Amino acid sequence: MLQYALANPLDSDNSRNAIQLFNQLRQQPAWSLNANTQRNMPLSGVSDAWVQAHPPLDRSNWPRMQKEIRAALEFSFILQFNEPQKDFEQRLWYISRAGYFVSSLPPANKQQTLDSYRTLLQRGYFTHMAPEANPHRRLRWTATYDGILNEGSMVTVSVPVDSEGYWYGVLAMDFTSDRIHAHLQQAMPHQGSIMLLDHAMHTLAVSTNSSRQENSSLSADEMRQLKTLIKEKPIGQLRVGSRFISWTRMNDFDGVMLSIQTLKEGLQGETGRVAIILLLTWLVFTLLLLLAWLTIYRLIDRLLTLQRSLYQRANYDPLTQLLNRGAFFERARALIVLCRRYQHPVTLIRLDVDYFKGVNDTWGHHAGDLALAHVAGLIKRQLRESDLCGRIGGEEFCLLLPETRLEEAVQVAERIRHQLAAEALAISAEQQILLSASLGLASSEEQGCYQIEHLQTIADRRLYLAKQNGRNQVCWQD
Ligand code: GH3
Ligand code: MG
Ligand code: MG
Repeated sequence: MLQYALANPLDSDNSRNAIQLFNQLRQQPAWSLNANTQRNMPLSGVSDAWVQAHPPLDRSNWPRMQKEIRAALEFSFILQFNEPQKDFEQRLWYISRAGYFVSSLPPANKQQTLDSYRTLLQRGYFTHMAPEANPHRRLRWTATYDGILNEGSMVTVSVPVDSEGYWYGVLAMDFTSDRIHAHLQQAMPHQGSIMLLDHAMHTLAVSTNSSRQENSSLSADEMRQLKTLIKEKPIGQLRVGSRFISWTRMNDFDGVMLSIQTLKEGLQGETGRVAIILLLTWLVFTLLLLLAWLTIYRLIDRLLTLQRSLYQRANYDPLTQLLNRGAFFERARALIVLCRRYQHPVTLIRLDVDYFKGVNDTWGHHAGDLALAHVAGLIKRQLRESDLCGRIGGEEFCLLLPETRLEEAVQVAERIRHQLAAEALAISAEQQILLSASLGLASSEEQGCYQIEHLQTIADRRLYLAKQNGRNQVCWQD
């Protein structure tokens, strides 16, 4: 609007009157020009001498000045409607290089006019709007400063006003930091804090209230790191400890908006809720997977137990825990093949408990079972790890001793026979019985044969001989 008014000056009685008044007042140190108080806000100015002493102020071009006075008066019309209590901005004003300004909050006296002109000449929002300082004619935000009318901390945004290639002045808006603060609070209630930085990376405003101040304040080091990154990238993120900082260089504003969130604040926000839902979903799926895995693990474990028990049942005698007949001969055959390959001697022993029927008949079947387990345990104790032993019939056992000559095997057989005959077995609390056994041996070396059936037949015959000769003895020859 101001630019339009500058390009199209309105010639009216009012403006002519104002120009006349300006000429009367322009020598005074400070003045206020009230052309028509109903329609306009007053123009507040300083003297010609003061203007001359303070570049970039300039009153050298009179035709241009007349145009500008007319435009400023027109523009001042809308300034009347500014309400600092309700509006976001505290003050809206046009500051002319011709040494006057028109403001929605006019100065109360001449001293204030002088003070205002003096301070605004020191402030970047006016002086930095010169074409050489601001070639792109962009908006500028000041850093915070203390308002001269006791408004507290303030920020000013300004934009240069040019027409026909000449820089006339600056249009500025003042905001109190409190107002920006309240606005940011309202805009972003839960999501951490928002910071506005100007082009020089000075803080313009922070949305944090005092209780959250700790989270938003950045150390000098963190700020330095952040500034370097912001210069490199217009949009980005950075994690500083448990805080996430994201920034965006804003359009139409020569500054940067920073969002600082702690992990907790992030979780309270919309993204945080989505993250929590995703996390929960993931947890549920993981739990389901875990359950499925546990079920499969149990199934496999049961299967393995079953397999082990089946194997045990298929190969071992449950009463004595020795190999059963089938398993014994299967392994004995394999062992003999090995012995034959390396031409190692191997000896087979047959053992039959003497008068075992009598044990059953006299002391009962249970005592018979105890006796069988007792005999099995005793045999096992006399054997080496590499020897084989199996229960091949009711009270009949068979032993295969690899790498053992007949004489050595006889010693083993004698030890078993002797131990059995010497060790009484308690079949009840009061009753002990003595057992004996007859044993028959056959060896590959002596027979010149590695056939298990043959060795078995020979050992069987010798066992029969031992029985015939009175039992409780070892027989190793025919
Ligand atoms: P010998 O001295 O001639 O060998 O006489 P014996 O009584 O030992 O011989 P016999 O073959 O007549 O008897 C074997 C007995 O073993 C018959 C059977 O009742 C008993 N027996 C076989 N298996 C078992 C078993 O698992 N438990 C019990 N308690 N007895 C069994
Ligand atoms: Mg028998
Ligand atoms: Mg017997």
